[in-house]
Amino acid sequence: MHLKRPTAATIDLDALAFNLRSAGDFIGRDTEIMAVVKADAYGHGAVECSKRLKSEGVKRLAVAIVEEAVELREAGIDGDILILGGIWPDQSELIFQHNLIPAIFSIESATALNSLYASKGKSAKIHVKIDTGMGRVGVPFADAGQFADALARLANIEVEALMTHFASADDLTQSDYTNYQMDRFGAVVEVFANAGIRPPILDLANSPASVAFPRSRSGLVRLGGILYGLGSDILPDVPRPDLKPVMSLTSEVGYLKHVSAGDSLGYGRTFIAKRDSLIATVPIGYADGYPRTLSNKGEMIVLGQTVPVVGRVSMDWTILDVTDIPNVEVGTKVTIIGGDGSEWISAADIARDTDTISYEITCGFGRRVPRAFKQG
Ligand SMILES: *Cc1c(COP(=O)(O)O)cnc(C)c1O
Repeated sequence: MHLKRPTAATIDLDALAFNLRSAGDFIGRDTEIMAVVKADAYGHGAVECSKRLKSEGVKRLAVAIVEEAVELREAGIDGDILILGGIWPDQSELIFQHNLIPAIFSIESATALNSLYASKGKSAKIHVKIDTGMGRVGVPFADAGQFADALARLANIEVEALMTHFASADDLTQSDYTNYQMDRFGAVVEVFANAGIRPPILDLANSPASVAFPRSRSGLVRLGGILYGLGSDILPDVPRPDLKPVMSLTSEVGYLKHVSAGDSLGYGRTFIAKRDSLIATVPIGYADGYPRTLSNKGEMIVLGQTVPVVGRVSMDWTILDVTDIPNVEVGTKVTIIGGDGSEWISAADIARDTDTISYEITCGFGRRVPRAFKQG
């Protein structure tokens, strides 16, 4: 879809590279960084981000589903790609064709892979995901022994890593639980060793753990959020690496009009002008990922000044009160995420106003918001 509408995200790949280096300096160079580029790199554009990250020395990428990895392969991205969400039935062939590495937590998936790879005379590399307390997917840690014994019987499976995922590493008041998960993981590593499986890689940490729990930095950490500069609302209050935001989002005033005191604006007439007002309509709405819960609550920046969203955010348009801003015209730039003059709105600000986290905000911008990539 080629879009004339001026609403677009700019992805600063130099900031991405900066965050990678900054995270690496902070965590320590003995720990390898696997870059998590699932969900189109949290909305930042997986292909472009992966290419830049690889050119900065990243060796391993991770996505959630096989199709995301295929997209990267089709864009010419080689090297290791981990599928964090495992495989769905009948995806073994795709794993083989594209030389991918699935996280595995069911013996059925491992058996299916084993048969396929055996028929090709090859071995499948897998990462075994252990549930030490996240409670989502993963081999329940109490079943690890049984699982390891079953895996050990699959001759064409090579366990390259054991991994686990933290439930609350972003919350220091729950650090006992994070430590408990690490203890359980350590026990599982021994259980696997007793079954004869000693994988070269052990990985636990996501962004918050890698920053806040030095003990979780094993040979490898899996980083998503902090690479995209999304630190402020997902990291606990501890010393942190310096991070730069990667995504900014801008549009333009699409329509401008004067309204009189008492006029209502938008669906449901939830805003009634208290004064004669200058009103700008901006071509972004909830269909684009600008949350409807920002109705009468959000803010954007116009000519270096913050202005309020008035009325309901609708599917394609959002209304701003620009009465106090001189010189606004149709075509004047509107900053939705990013800085203009001394004003700044971050994805975390929008997340705070909508009771979510910054990841959901950047992931949420859809196909109608083209990404422009900037570097050098
Ligand atoms: C998404 C994900 C990560 C990355 O988490 P961040 O907080 O973005 O660093 C790491 N591991 C697993 C299993 C994930 O699903």
